[in-house]
Parts: sequence; C-alpha cells; structure tokens
Amino acid sequence: LSDVTEMRKLQQLRSEFVANVTHELKTPLTSIRGFIELLKSGDRDEETRQYFYDVLDIEAERLHHLIDDMLVLSQIENAKDDVQTVPCNLNQEIETVLRWAKPIAEKNGIVLRLEAEEAFLVASSPTRLQQLFGNLVENAIKYNKPQGRVTVTLQRQRIMVLVKVKDTGIGIPQEHLPRLFERFYRVDSSRSREIGGTGLGLSIVKHLAGLYHGDVSVESVVGEGSVFTVRLPLLEG
Ligand code: ADP
Repeated sequence: LSDVTEMRKLQQLRSEFVANVTHELKTPLTSIRGFIELLKSGDRDEETRQYFYDVLDIEAERLHHLIDDMLVLSQIENAKDDVQTVPCNLNQEIETVLRWAKPIAEKNGIVLRLEAEEAFLVASSPTRLQQLFGNLVENAIKYNKPQGRVTVTLQRQRIMVLVKVKDTGIGIPQEHLPRLFERFYRVDSSRSREIGGTGLGLSIVKHLAGLYHGDVSVESVVGEGSVFTVRLPLLEG
C-alpha cells in the first residue's frame, strides 16, 4: 500500500513539475509573440521599434536562462550515484564566484566580502561548487538593498565546513522558509520575474549540497537580510 501511495505521490510531483515548466515557458513566449505582432502591424517610429526589440531580447534571454537552469537541474538529478569528485579548494572557488559577481554588485553599489579563517578542502567538482555558491551570491545581490553588503564566511565545524552567505537585503517572511528550496517557489513572483529569476536557483543549490553529502539552511529577518548556510564534509589533506 505504501508503495502505491509513494508512486502516486511521485506521479503527482511529476505532473506538477510539467505544469509549472509549461507555464514558465509560455509566459515569455506569449510576450515574444505579442511584440512580434505589434512590430508587424502598423507603422512604428524608431524609438518604439527599439523598445520592442529590447523587450524581445529580454524575453528570449529569460527563456535561455530557464532552459539552462532546467538542464543543470536534470544533470544533477541524474548524477546522483556516480558523481566524479576531486579535492577542491573551497576558498578558491568562492573567490572565483565573487570575482564574477563583482561587476553586477558594483553596479548596485553592493560590497562583497570573503572572510575565511583557513583554507578548506572538499570533495566535489569546481564547476558544481561555482554553480552552488554562484546562485547564493547572485540572490544575495539581487534581493539586496542599494549600498548593501554581501559577506561570505567560511568556518570549521568539527568534520564539516560551514559557508554562510549573508546579505543586508529585503529578507524573507518566515512563512515562506519551509518551501523556499522547492522548484519554481518564489516569495514575490513579480520581483523575481522582473529581475530575470527562474525560481530554480535554490533548488539547484539544495540538490548540489545533497549530492556532496552536505545540506543547506536559511535564516532571515524581513527588512534586515538573510543568511544561507551550506554545510559540506571536509576533506582533511
Ligand atoms: P529566483 O530565480 O526567483 O531568484 P531562487 O530559487 O534562486 O529563484 O529563489 C527563490 C525565491 O527565494 C526568490 O524568488 C526570492 O523570492 C527568494 N530569495 C532567494 N534568495 C533570497 C535572498 N537572499 N533574499 C531574499 N529573498 C531571497
């Protein structure tokens, strides 16, 4: 009986996922088709045409980003048991992420900092670590306030390393925290969409942390900011 219940639950999750994906793909496509119609019908001055082209560009980019995130998610899910891991210097990978993020942060007047007591080695893949912390740092910038701060701290906790990504941003109301890592879950859909969010970033983070035998948790205060904590097993070298 419990097998049947489990199977039904899986089927339901799958059909919910398909429904969500369909909706997420349809929204930008509908907008693209609408603006193409507008461009084809009637004379438009150059400024209006340019505006329409810009919207088309943004919507196409949104589709691209969504498809990329779905591919990453499906790769991680299929990787489950046969992950290839190598010793990775966590500090180095996070520094790479912060270097990439710096121009976007600067544009928003946000300062990025890394505080590490020592260098930490973990068994993972450099690309996957960059994806994991890239998503968290990107969110910490996106949902921050102007002139805000993002601080990443690395500290030892027995056989684990704790990576905290802390922001001084808008925060997340408590009632959203239990579902935050679900695919396509968003606190404020319009803000997320407006800034090009796919709603998949945190589910990628959760899957990746799990893949390397770690986990992720979140604490947040509305109006003050959020802290995402990733725990990964240390590789003593
Ligand atoms: P998105 O692409 O929408 O950013 P994510 O899966 O990365 O999707 O995040 C899910 C939702 O969690 C976001 O839409 C946002 O509402 C909320 N969120 C994530 N990170 C933060 C943060 N650092 N501060 C405030 N809200 C956040």
